[in-house]
Amino acid sequence: MRRIAVVSDIHSNLEALEEVLARLRGEEVYCLGDIVGYGGNPNEVVERIRELGIGTVIGNHDQAVVTGETGMFNARAAMAVGWTARQLSSANLEYLRSLPRELRVTADRVTAYMAHGSPDYLWEYVDPATHSQLFGHYLQKLGARVIALGHTHVPYVWNEGAGTVFNPGSVGQPRDGDRRASYAVVTVDGEEVEVEVHRVEYDYEKAAAKIRAAGLPEQLASRLQHGV
Ligand code: ZN
Repeated sequence: MRRIAVVSDIHSNLEALEEVLARLRGEEVYCLGDIVGYGGNPNEVVERIRELGIGTVIGNHDQAVVTGETGMFNARAAMAVGWTARQLSSANLEYLRSLPRELRVTADRVTAYMAHGSPDYLWEYVDPATHSQLFGHYLQKLGARVIALGHTHVPYVWNEGAGTVFNPGSVGQPRDGDRRASYAVVTVDGEEVEVEVHRVEYDYEKAAAKIRAAGLPEQLASRLQHGV
């Protein structure tokens, strides 16, 4: 039996990340991207991911910070991308640049595919309401038993037949009305897979104060309180 923790969309929120890491019990950890963007501790969060050797795919915010291309973002997100790019050390920028678009992880007899948006597009929002008819196709095309996708900041677990598709939600900026940091733990036993989504309280006021102190848009701070 193996237990794997999956985090996503940390968005430079060190308080939320530390609280999630403190709940883990030796699970191998993977990250579905958007390590940075929006929050006040980009260097600290990247360094934590690097020092723990967490396997990570690139997110659209990570990519924008590296390339400087913000045409797909609204003004608030673009401001945060620019600020983040100016804060990051060259080693941390280089790390983000090195991240792969997708990962495949094998545990027991189960292969899990991981990406930020959809298997096809970094920027695509995948939600069971709009995409569940594609899930069987993804699983077959990718030759995976499990698919883990981030980007929407809204957790779900979809199970059907021989496949599971899930989103662990967002560590650093939840958007499902629950402000607690979100992450998932996958338990693999032979061919059996169970995915549990966990929520954890963290000091969102401290994280919000850092966003305000950085001069980033107020809405990026206040949304942490409301989880939207
Ligand atoms: Zn995100």
